Amino acid sequence: RCFCKLQGEVDDCSCKVETLDSLNNNKIYPRLKSLLSRNYFRYFKVNLQKHCPFWSDDSRCALRDCHVNICQEDEVPIKKKDTARHGKAKYSEHNNVKGQENGNIESCAEERELSALDTTISKEKMAEFQTWKEHDESLPMFCEIDDEDSDGMEYVDLLLNPERYTGYKGTSPRKVWRSIYEENCFKPENNVKYGPELVGDLESTMCLEKRVFYRLISGLHTSINIHLCDQYLFPDKSGFGPGTWGQNLEEFQNRFDPELTKGMGPQRLKNLYFTYLIELRAITKAIPYLESETFYTGDIKEDVEVMEGVSDFLSVAASFQHHFDESKLFKGNTDEMKQLKAEFVHHFRNISRIMDCVGCDKCKLWGKLQTLGMGTALKILFSGESMNPGSTVDAKSKNFQLTRTEIVALFNAFGRLSSSIHALETFRSLAR
Ligand code: FAD
Repeated sequence: RCFCKLQGEVDDCSCKVETLDSLNNNKIYPRLKSLLSRNYFRYFKVNLQKHCPFWSDDSRCALRDCHVNICQEDEVPIKKKDTARHGKAKYSEHNNVKGQENGNIESCAEERELSALDTTISKEKMAEFQTWKEHDESLPMFCEIDDEDSDGMEYVDLLLNPERYTGYKGTSPRKVWRSIYEENCFKPENNVKYGPELVGDLESTMCLEKRVFYRLISGLHTSINIHLCDQYLFPDKSGFGPGTWGQNLEEFQNRFDPELTKGMGPQRLKNLYFTYLIELRAITKAIPYLESETFYTGDIKEDVEVMEGVSDFLSVAASFQHHFDESKLFKGNTDEMKQLKAEFVHHFRNISRIMDCVGCDKCKLWGKLQTLGMGTALKILFSGESMNPGSTVDAKSKNFQLTRTEIVALFNAFGRLSSSIHALETFRSLAR
């Protein structure tokens, strides 16, 4: 039996690893794989040119496999949506796409009427906009979100730039990971030695909120490292050829086998399941919002298919929404709790900024996408009207908005975790 065949409850959640393996590999992974290949999800807008805000060593990595192919704007099949941000306009746009498909003249007429309204900015609309703006600004912002139209923002085709082995190793990634764990995760109480090596009895040294933070980051780290083992570049034996891509069991064992990792590997693998459950919970909490989203690209047929695909995926995900209870976090309205929440947000924002210090563009691309996806999940979890388990983010509420980039990041980040859990199955069979 491979050490990577984990068993038992995911820590701080109420779900068994075995149950998640089965749900993910049979239901979630195939659906997401197909969904993430659609145009709406495959083009991600990102700024890879930003300078590292924390240290000067932000030299560009010259490794061949770190290169990212940028798309020209005119190659990207995503049209810009007009001003409609949510609410009735959003619903009507949704109906309109379906309406055209079914020849539903009524909803098209309604849409025309709303579009006409949209072009005149009434006092009422300005006041409404001000309310959204004030609310958006009052939400805890886990990541700095770049303006889509700002300098340096470029589209990347994620399918043409997969997350895989790049050869990025040594001082630079070590510094990034160290800074993440040592400067931006919480320190355990009682002076327990802290660092990436932190392991073992987290429950007795850290409160739930701090454990959640650590496990989220460790789960992300696990996922990144599983992908580089799953799609590893074996050099050509002659030394002249391009090499071949495949699973590297030895690399995987070096990173996760308990005997080779002072017992820490399995715990790190378990943290992957934790991160997966948190992002899954966030997605299910946002079901009403996501079901009203149009996934607009401008291609009606594609958009309808994507809406149907998302709806099918959400119906499967919905059965797993109660395995993490975010209402247990930041309980009580004390100053201490408020401070803890502010620190949680501040640390996470720092980690998202540290991604600009990653010295390999491909790793930076996926690092930025996955931290934005995780930040979006946290924004959803802590934005509900009510924090009760099972509460949802109301689609019609004026108080909640996600940008296209956040939705793309959320789904792709979750897709990465899903793909990592799926890859574990392959390593299990290779290790037999
Ligand atoms: P590292 O993975 O660098 O880990 C550093 C230390 O952290 C380890 O010694 C260990 O003590 C601890 N640690 C390891 N895993 C965990 C965990 N799950 N939880 C807690 N602690 C842990 N390389 C690629 O080939 N492709 C990529 O796409 C890629 N993306 C990256 C994205 C980012 C944001 C970063 C920072 C690095 C990325 N890398 C990528 C590099 C990769 O993650 C490793 O840093 C690299 O392979 C060197 O590995 P290492 O053995 O030195 O240990």
